[in-house]
Amino acid sequence: MFDTIVERIKQKKRTIKFPDDKISLPTNYRGLPRISESTENCNSCETKLCTNSCPTKAINYIVDTRKIKIDLGKCIFCLQCIQNCPTNTISFSKNYRLSTSTRADLFCSPDLSLSEYKLATALHKSSLKIFGRSLQLREVSAGGCNACEADTNVLNTLSFDLARFGIKFVASPRHADGILVTGPVSKNMHLALIKTYNSIPSPKFVIAVGACAISGGIFQEASEAHNGFDDENLQDIHVDLFIPGCPPHPLTILDGLLRLIGKKI
Ligand code: SF4
Repeated sequence: MFDTIVERIKQKKRTIKFPDDKISLPTNYRGLPRISESTENCNSCETKLCTNSCPTKAINYIVDTRKIKIDLGKCIFCLQCIQNCPTNTISFSKNYRLSTSTRADLFCSPDLSLSEYKLATALHKSSLKIFGRSLQLREVSAGGCNACEADTNVLNTLSFDLARFGIKFVASPRHADGILVTGPVSKNMHLALIKTYNSIPSPKFVIAVGACAISGGIFQEASEAHNGFDDENLQDIHVDLFIPGCPPHPLTILDGLLRLIGKKI
């Protein structure tokens, strides 16, 4: 017992003071992409190797403007585009705040500075009254590889202590306020996802975590999976929060959840 107390004192408090702590991310962390504003870069490049090398077709070359656009809903942050770009047009910043309220806001273009990227906004005031201080989520892994699930799960550990913000994961959709979905929605999980969603009492909201849940990610157009919430079979479900990444960093997920419930961050 004495040893335990001594060890506890030695270890001190391990929970990060998000968002006040200085965040230290790994050196190879890839956050919000930056695309050089110079049109010369893409103009002078005839190979378009970036678009061809992207495994998820996340890069679009816009012929009219001669610029590229990156769809963060599809990007898996694999760096193939950087490695294949002869003009150093693309780079990745360390900005981990990536979640948005709409699918359209997930596009990065050269004229969009980091400060202009439209981050997720809080729910409507009437919803905040209900969910702002106590939010129960049901997680559905709809054919995910377990990476997004693991990075969501880690929020419940003492480092992040998600419960201090009033956010908890619950087992039954009947006890939930919203659903958090990971994975591309495999055909086998489609019905289960719909049933779980329908079982949550209204008002409710939906959070898509990871490239797979948003667009299908690397499973786009696969025969046994849907294209996440981009799929026409899921258009009836309105998504309130998009958290991109493959998988998103736990801080990206935490930042998105807190934005949704209007916490000051
Ligand atoms: S980092 Fe994103 S945009 Fe670049 S090649 Fe990989 S998936 Fe495509």
